[in-house]
Amino acid sequence: MLSLEHIRTLCSGEIHIGEPLAPMTSFRIGGPADILIEPVNGEELSALVRYFRVIDASFVLLGNGSNILVSDEGIRGVVINIERHFSSLSFDDGVVTAGAGVRLSKFVDFCVRHRLAGAEMLAGIPGTLGGGVIMNAGAYGGEISDHMLDVTVLRDGIMRTLKKSESGFRYRGSDLRGDIVLSARFRFPEGDEEALKARRKELLLKRNAAQPVRWPNAGSIFKNPEGRHAARLIEESGLKGYAVGGAQVAEQHANFIINTGGATAADVLAVIRHVRATVRARTDVTLELEILLLGFAPEAIAFLN
Ligand SMILES: Cc1cc2nc3c(=O)[nH]c(=O)nc-3n(C[C@H](O)[C@H](O)[C@H](O)COP(=O)(O)OP(=O)(O)OC[C@H]3O[C@@H](n4cnc5c(N)ncnc54)[C@H](O)[C@@H]3O)c2cc1C
Repeated sequence: MLSLEHIRTLCSGEIHIGEPLAPMTSFRIGGPADILIEPVNGEELSALVRYFRVIDASFVLLGNGSNILVSDEGIRGVVINIERHFSSLSFDDGVVTAGAGVRLSKFVDFCVRHRLAGAEMLAGIPGTLGGGVIMNAGAYGGEISDHMLDVTVLRDGIMRTLKKSESGFRYRGSDLRGDIVLSARFRFPEGDEEALKARRKELLLKRNAAQPVRWPNAGSIFKNPEGRHAARLIEESGLKGYAVGGAQVAEQHANFIINTGGATAADVLAVIRHVRATVRARTDVTLELEILLLGFAPEAIAFLN
């Protein structure tokens, strides 16, 4: 059984009991975590993960919470947040090394400042590097894995460095699910600082014009099916503005669900269910979720199978 006392001997960072998760997600939705811990380095994290394995306790990683929907009941057991203490960023011998907790916006700014081209298309993605690597985050024709050399992960409690070719990166995914990303290394081609700044600004403006930035959301809800646009399929199914409780298909971008105030996770799931069923009935396309669902009972999300 999970022992808080034992966790305290392994983790010198902060430990929160019954911590509300809604404020830690971009959707502003979700119940509390039984225990939220913030280990301060890889050794602590490794010891904690090995302990959880021994007692067969599950745990969940939380980055910046910008690509998840947490259930209204929250998450039973342990949530690990490494955002605060894994945020080192360096540039040596032409290689950028970034900790998993580094915000993508900081990573982009750092690369631009060092006249490195290829990260600027990630500007405006509101996550951490670790979450971005797991999801292979990308935008405007680029992905975070494009210029990656390798990624250091904890796998089964053991630290390993995997080459990019061993990580199975693909559209909004990787073979790293189940691992904990600790850091990643990149080698970018040289660029012109003013041109990179201009491109970053242009993409940020484009993003702000296209996305419903006024309301809490989790970015794109569904992956784009091969050769199609999820947003277009949803829009053409007449679903813009469709709402359940405080969750609504955004008028500005049909692949976004916005929290117009007081939305519950159940509201969001109901919208997801209706959108998928309607699009499938009209087009034969089954939309696949891009966001991750955390803390849900299997029966609550069985409709996704
Ligand atoms: C307004 C908005 C716009 C967005 N635009 C884009 C976009 O253009 N392109 C895009 O790709 N995404 C986009 N996103 C989605 C999201 O920002 C990215 O997927 C981001 O990389 C997720 O990072 P995070 O730290 O927030 O991860 P979280 O949401 O906290 O977690 C996502 C998943 O990764 C896991 N995870 C987090 N950190 C780690 C770690 N260190 N090790 C192992 N697992 C981990 C979590 O358990 C979870 O399963 C957008 C989101 C919003 C709200």
